[in-house]
Amino acid sequence: MKIVSACLSGVHCRYDCQAKTRVDVADMVKRGEAIPVCPEQLGGLTTPRPPAERIGDKVLTNGGADVTAEYQRGAEEALQIAKLCCATEALLKSKSPMCGVGKIYDGTFSGNTKPGDGVFAELLKKHGIKVTEID
Ligand code: SF4
Repeated sequence: MKIVSACLSGVHCRYDCQAKTRVDVADMVKRGEAIPVCPEQLGGLTTPRPPAERIGDKVLTNGGADVTAEYQRGAEEALQIAKLCCATEALLKSKSPMCGVGKIYDGTFSGNTKPGDGVFAELLKKHGIKVTEID
């Protein structure tokens, strides 16, 4: 079983209420091969919500609000779902401060990226779940 970023499967869960649908990912969910999760929503953040980026050891919105605790809680809850369905792999939305793998937005809200993982991707790696980015 795989975990996938819910926005890739067509769920309108991004900060701006949009999805980033990938038909191949949605088809995996339809075939029962993958479970969609949105860790930002699972952490209690609203939709829509202000965009946020990783800055140092915190996650801050573009207005300066500290949403680190919500990100940590959401990543833990999504990990719990991954464990419940015995997921061994996760396909995650690229560049997101929560789901990004290997590169994430750089904290300047300019669209530029820096090396690093999102909070959820980092946690999955720590628990031995393979993570792959999907653009
Ligand atoms: Fe998509 Fe992940 Fe962001 Fe949710 S937390 S909107 S699943 S990238």
